[in-house]
Parts: sequence; C-alpha cells; structure tokens
Amino acid sequence: DNPQPKKPDWIRVRAPGGQGYAETRRIMRDNNLTTVCEEAGCPNVGECWSAGHATMMIMGEVCTRGCTFCNVATGRPDALDVFEPGRVADAVQKLGLNHVVITSVDRDDLDDGGAEHFAQTIRALRHRAPDTTIEILTPDFLKCGPEALETVVAAKPDVFNHNLETVPALYPSVRPGARYFHSLRLLQRVKEIDPSIFTKSGIMVGLGEGRSEVHQVMDDMRSANIDFLTIGQYLQPTPKHHAVDRFVTPDEFKSYEKAAWGKGFLMVSATPLTRSSYHAGEDFARLRDA
Ligand code: SF4
Ligand code: SF4
Repeated sequence: DNPQPKKPDWIRVRAPGGQGYAETRRIMRDNNLTTVCEEAGCPNVGECWSAGHATMMIMGEVCTRGCTFCNVATGRPDALDVFEPGRVADAVQKLGLNHVVITSVDRDDLDDGGAEHFAQTIRALRHRAPDTTIEILTPDFLKCGPEALETVVAAKPDVFNHNLETVPALYPSVRPGARYFHSLRLLQRVKEIDPSIFTKSGIMVGLGEGRSEVHQVMDDMRSANIDFLTIGQYLQPTPKHHAVDRFVTPDEFKSYEKAAWGKGFLMVSATPLTRSSYHAGEDFARLRDA
C-alpha cells in the first residue's frame, strides 16, 4: 500500500468554532453558496471564518478536471446559475468583508470557460460592496480563445490569482489536463493587458519536488511579472488522493520565503499552513496602504 508520513506537530489545526464562524456559515447557507474552506477541508477554517474571511466557489461543485490533490468532485457540471453573482455580492455585503476571494471549478464544458460569469460576479460585487477588494482565483481557460481572459481582466479585479500548484515535472501526476507554461503565460497576459492588477500564484510543496525546481518556479513566476507568491504544505484530503511525499520543515519554508523576497515578489507567504487565500486580505491591505 501507500504508507503516509506521520503529520508533524507543526501541522496543527484549530477546531472551527466561535460566533464569527457560525455567522459566516449561516450567511453562506442562506445564500446557497459553496466555500472552498469547507470543500477543500482547509485547516484554517476556524481562524478565517472567525475573522469573517472566506473563499467562495462559483459555477458549481462539480469540476471538469481531476487534479489528484483536489477534493472537488469530477464530472459533468450543472448549467450556470444566472442569479449566483447577485447572491455572492449579497453574502459579501452581509459579511462586511474587506477582501473577498472568489474561485471556481474548471468549466471546460463552457465555450468561455465561465469567463463572463466571473466578470458578472466582479461587477455585482463592485455594485453591492464597493469597498471590498476583490481577488479572483481562476481556472486556466486552456480550451478558450484569448477573449475569455480579456473578459475577466476587463472587469478589473484587484488581484488576479491562478495557481501553478506544483513544479512542471509533477504536472502529469498532480495536475493532468493542465499545462505549466500555459498557466504561466496566462498570468503574464493579465499584467500585459492591465498592469494595475496585482497578479498572484502559488504552489504546494511536499509532493515530491526538489528544492532547485521550486527555485526555478519562482524565477519563472518573476519572469512573468507575478507579484504575489504563496507556498504551503500539501495535505492529502483522502487516501485516494496524491500521496504526501514528505513534510517540508518550517526552516525550509523560511528559506523559500527569504529566497522569494530576494527575487522581488511584492508579497510572500510561505509556511506549512499557507493556503492560496490565507490572510490574503491582510496582506493586500498592508501592501495597498504601504
Ligand atoms: Fe478559506 Fe482560504 Fe481561509 Fe482556507 S485559507 S479557510 S480556503 S479563506
Ligand atoms: Fe480541483 Fe481546480 Fe483541479 Fe478542478 S481544476 S480538480 S477544482 S484544482
């Protein structure tokens, strides 16, 4: 079988609870919204929800891809819900968020990959919650023409995030169906179309990558003018998912972080529990106010 390394004590997860947590959960339920925090079994859910920060997932709960690290169901998704952008905006307004992260499943079944739905969600948010900064975490729009990306960028999110997830050599086993250089180019294009949008990407470590490969990914990201970087430990959602190769030590994370600052990223988060959207609001506010 596949014996997994034992979780070290630096992977500590606080149990969800508290009033903020219950309130966030209620508003999400009332608006029939899905959160990545729950779907992905994110270890930070207690902390984030208590602070009123959450990541919403639009365009359904079924994905057309089957990344081997991801707990979202693969299959044929439902039709888009035209009222969803309004419900997202309503929830964000009620939660009074300073910063919201909106992500989605991959929709290879749609001609535009869901680009227009993303754009509508951004516009609804700007209308209902004008003070909330908006971060989107998008699919790769691999099967669409260039207009798909242009549609999303034209809606002017504050931060455009798309995760490279892992080093190129591990794509076939971790992210089948995606292409490393396509994802990199997507982020570079965002900056070319609208330099006022911050770009962001991230990887998980502990999947079997080497140190020099991680450094190469950081260099590739900077060549594509990516502004923000996240690096976190991969955790296996269920025994059926990609195995954890090893637990990267906190000291190794610190050395990645130091290297990343040296390469010129504007924001870096590299800790075992870093997730793509972890503390995204605080980091962004700090940068904006600097
Ligand atoms: Fe949700 Fe992101 Fe916080 Fe995890 S880190 S609980 S996905 S907002
Ligand atoms: Fe999960 Fe995104 Fe991969 Fe779909 S494309 S399986 S949602 S990581």
